[in-house]
Amino acid sequence: MPNAPVRVRLAPSPTGEVHIGTLWIALFNWVYAKQHHGTFVLRIEDTDQKRFVAGSADRIYEALYWLGFSPDEGPQEGGSFGPYIQRERLQLYQDAAAQLVGSGRAYYCFCTPERLEQVRAAQTAAKLPPRYDKHCATLTREEADRRRGAGESATVRLRLPETGTVTLHDLIRGDVIFKYDLLDDSVIMKSDGYPTYHLAVVVDDHAMQISHVFRAEEWLPSAPKHLFIYQALGWEVPAFAHFPLILGTDRSKMSKRHGTTSALMFRDQGYLPEAMRNFLVLMGWHPKGEAEVMTTDDVLAQFAIEDVHPSGAIFDQTKLDWLNGLYIRRLTPDELQVRLEPFWHQPADQVSPTWLTAALRLVQDRLVKLSDIDQLINFVFPSVWDSELTTFERSLLVPKKGKTDQVQQDLTWASTWLQTQSGTWTAAGLKAAMLVAIAAAGKKNGDVLWPLRVALSLRPASPDVFDLIALLGPAESQRRIAAFL
Ligand code: GLU
Repeated sequence: MPNAPVRVRLAPSPTGEVHIGTLWIALFNWVYAKQHHGTFVLRIEDTDQKRFVAGSADRIYEALYWLGFSPDEGPQEGGSFGPYIQRERLQLYQDAAAQLVGSGRAYYCFCTPERLEQVRAAQTAAKLPPRYDKHCATLTREEADRRRGAGESATVRLRLPETGTVTLHDLIRGDVIFKYDLLDDSVIMKSDGYPTYHLAVVVDDHAMQISHVFRAEEWLPSAPKHLFIYQALGWEVPAFAHFPLILGTDRSKMSKRHGTTSALMFRDQGYLPEAMRNFLVLMGWHPKGEAEVMTTDDVLAQFAIEDVHPSGAIFDQTKLDWLNGLYIRRLTPDELQVRLEPFWHQPADQVSPTWLTAALRLVQDRLVKLSDIDQLINFVFPSVWDSELTTFERSLLVPKKGKTDQVQQDLTWASTWLQTQSGTWTAAGLKAAMLVAIAAAGKKNGDVLWPLRVALSLRPASPDVFDLIALLGPAESQRRIAAFL
């Protein structure tokens, strides 16, 4: 539909968790709609009763809203092409099925599940691909009507040509040719009056005037059946683009084995929506230049569907973490505090807002995900430090090759030296003075600073020791060292 207004759709099935791949496809649909002043439609494909999980549609909305891909039309938004839930559109599919049977492009099938199973078993035994054997394709209409009239249950199957080919023009893959003799006469209407995906998707994409179908590669094998239905019903075919499979860095299909695949889990772990959007767009597509950090406006200006790589898109968790850290570092202190709110479990210690901001500044560039915050920072609160001291792993305190007595001596030395420092403590001032003192005492920096930092933080990794001392102040720093010793 070259000149028709752009109408794209996300058509998820409500089967539980929202897979990150669904958001990935949503992104490209949304971007394309925005680029072309088009309409982004959300349609819930819930005709598979066996896989239906209640509440899934709400989770799809949550995931879309998280990244800012709000549909223009959908179950909640409404629109002139509703309803946007397939179960509420059954009559449309039944009419289309009847039309296809009427024109001979589909037929009633009375085969029982047991018979189909026998056929499949025989084909498997003969090392043939399992396909329907067209047993009912030769029934006359009269015979089929008589059996249905007598109450026999029937499905409707597509009557695909037995030979020849059909070509799909795919915006990402170019021409893809399918051979009919490899295709199955799929069921398009089940005996319970519910359509299967093949029929429902075509009927709705047509009825909703979808101009471009962007979906995952896993639907590519279904495309020739869809083309057949479009043609059989005399409907114009939309443009198609099948996005590649999402692979893990080991190049196998991304699954739970690679970490979480749930879109909302990424949100709940504290990935920023802007980082996630940037990450997702780079999966399978790359801007012309070198720059990888892109705002949504950059993407809207540069994205071209033809430049999507047809082969696997790699989900690189390391890259996501890198981007997320980068976007976190760009937040102002106030923004960061707001973003951290759902993740940060602060103890009841009385601290001033300025102190909190200063503490946060120390860890901002170490945050990979917002949910890391407690572990990274909470030790600065006295009550947390006190409780962690009771379970502290002593072996952490001894620097490489160091001895415990030596550590004790060095820490005592540091504590005594700190007592001699009057006035305001700044990180830079303390650092300059202390490094001179360490050298004058004939000690090594690491021998003193490592245990000092561990004593103050109880962690193998933490912000710089002088920053910590300056933040905690003389009294709290000395209290910690003394308790430690
Ligand atoms: N209902 C299909 C899904 O769950 C949609 C496939 C399509 O976009 O055509 O992904």
